[in-house]
Amino acid sequence: QPAITAAINGKGKAKASGTIDYAMEFDWAPQLKGTMKKVFGISSFRLCQQGVCNANMDGRDVVCVMPTGGGKSLTYQLPALLTPGCTLVISPLISLITDQILHLREAGVEAAKLTGGTSKALANEIQQRLIEMASSRGGGQQGDIKLCYVTPEKIAKSKAFMFLLRKLVEGGKLARIVIDEAHCVSQLGHDFRPDYKKLSALRQFFPHVPILALSATCPPKVLQDILKILHMKPVVDGKAAPREGTIYFSAPLYRKNLHYSVVPKPSSAKEVVSAMSQYILQNHEHDSGIVYCLTKKDAETVAASLQDVSNGRIKTGVYHADVADGQKEGLHRQWRDGSIQVVCATIAFGLGIDKGNVRFVLHHTKSLDGYYQESGRAGRDGQDADCLLYYRPQDATRQSSITCTDTDGTAKLHDMLRFAQDIQECRKILFAKYFSASSDLSMTSWTTEESSAMDKCGHCDNCTRAPETVEHKDVTTEAWQILKILEAVDVQGGRQTIAGLSDLARGLGGGSFEAGGKRKKAKAKVQLDYDAVAGGKVGLSKDDIETLIVQLLVSRYLGEAFSSTAYTVNVYVIPGELALRLTRLARADVVHGKGPRIHCSFKRQARKGKASTAGAGTKRKTGARSDGDGGDVSVTTVAGS
Ligand code: ADP
Ligand code: MG
Repeated sequence: QPAITAAINGKGKAKASGTIDYAMEFDWAPQLKGTMKKVFGISSFRLCQQGVCNANMDGRDVVCVMPTGGGKSLTYQLPALLTPGCTLVISPLISLITDQILHLREAGVEAAKLTGGTSKALANEIQQRLIEMASSRGGGQQGDIKLCYVTPEKIAKSKAFMFLLRKLVEGGKLARIVIDEAHCVSQLGHDFRPDYKKLSALRQFFPHVPILALSATCPPKVLQDILKILHMKPVVDGKAAPREGTIYFSAPLYRKNLHYSVVPKPSSAKEVVSAMSQYILQNHEHDSGIVYCLTKKDAETVAASLQDVSNGRIKTGVYHADVADGQKEGLHRQWRDGSIQVVCATIAFGLGIDKGNVRFVLHHTKSLDGYYQESGRAGRDGQDADCLLYYRPQDATRQSSITCTDTDGTAKLHDMLRFAQDIQECRKILFAKYFSASSDLSMTSWTTEESSAMDKCGHCDNCTRAPETVEHKDVTTEAWQILKILEAVDVQGGRQTIAGLSDLARGLGGGSFEAGGKRKKAKAKVQLDYDAVAGGKVGLSKDDIETLIVQLLVSRYLGEAFSSTAYTVNVYVIPGELALRLTRLARADVVHGKGPRIHCSFKRQARKGKASTAGAGTKRKTGARSDGDGGDVSVTTVAGS
């Protein structure tokens, strides 16, 4: 058993409460630092690396949440070199594994991989070496495999490999099991992989081998799910850890070189591509970037039209699961050397990206987790970055038709909508709140994180927004009208989409709607009597009313109803659970301030001479750059259209 009692004997014990502070220096600090410098050329720890290394060295179960690019690999590679035996690493992608092995070999570390792509002969050789390790005596020999990388299928599907692991465990030579991208085990996360779920077998078969779970995106619910699936004990604070429990470390969730903002998104797919093209040419003419798209087909379409509308100035490539391996490699190469400027991709593209100077990322997004995670693909060289989210309220429709079947889909959608609709609170604070929200755990680390995360970033769109471009309004009367109109539709058995309700409430299309009926033919047109129903039409602009409707959705005055056909899921708005609080009042009462008040913030045009929010999104200077080194990075999220 590699676990050493040094935590008790060493300098880390410190605390009077008898808990261990793993963030401190331990007896093995000289070895850790020496090896780090000698093998990896790194002279100081970053974020929570030291704490995670210490807890690993002490044989504890650990969960480490660090942003993408934060340096999670070092937290297991370094202890692996200082512990007898082999560290097993489970990683979701072959490309990711290949990359790691390459780096390790360059550093002179004995590392091996066993994946679907490994030849039989090579796999046999590696397995033979591991068997020899298992049966050899003593603390290890020259040529021992210190790190063995596998894809989760190996654990899920290969009995022979599980047998080999058992041999290693029996010989006391399985130092640790590392699960990279651990959020993939949870269906509540944004990147669930069925084979990851089967990793639960590891703890069942090898109860004494410590587990290290790594992730960049791990909101509380996902964390709880990971712990449950992997059979790990509840988390304890890594800086004041009792002898029992899973050591939890998280580094600041927020990377200060990423500048988040939400910008208006045009209504047609064509205009969206034009806006993206314009944005890229104006701000990142010579920079590499990614456009994340919702579907494979979208990726292909966007790639073609982006190149098209820019008259070939923007060279694009396509990446998704169905692109042939050879083509993917070619694309990576061309993207690296700059002959492809923008990769249009599904979320399949990302985990393996090891390109520092990604200057902008535009993507379709389904959830805040995904947006956060995908934002992390940019600016890994530490340079400044803009993170733009193209958003328009009607997207709620397509978003919910996609997420309504997911566990927690609607709640996740509402989180995203709240984030996008908020034009006042700092984005960093919104993220911090989201990642620590609904946490009924007493996780000291989150709390600590939160308090520092509660300072404004000072450079997102909301922090830099000119006050005169926000109008904060009491729109209770308008909300009452909308709900009354929807009620009238509901009484007739009709139903409305967000766009439909917005048009109807404003009196567009002649002010009539379709009544309901079981049979399609029975549907009759009903003329809405605006004065009788709602005291008139709603006097808001299209943008404003849609903003208000989404706000009513996330605050439960409106609800959603889904209706699925063979091809698609349609989303309708229905009166929500709080609707009666308003609709039971008479219009005059509402106008005179009775009942709950509904406030909404609307964007207004900047006065002449002020920078517009379209385009760069923030007032930060993005010019003064001549090449791809240094400068700004944008991560732009384009919600589905
Ligand atoms: P993650 O897995 O968290 O996304 P990686 O482990 O791939 O990140 O590390 C990202 C980059 O940061 C790598 O190039 C790595 O060499 C570098 N790195 C890791 N730790 C440090 C450190 N303490 N100081 C400087 N660079 C580091
Ligand atoms: Mg990693």
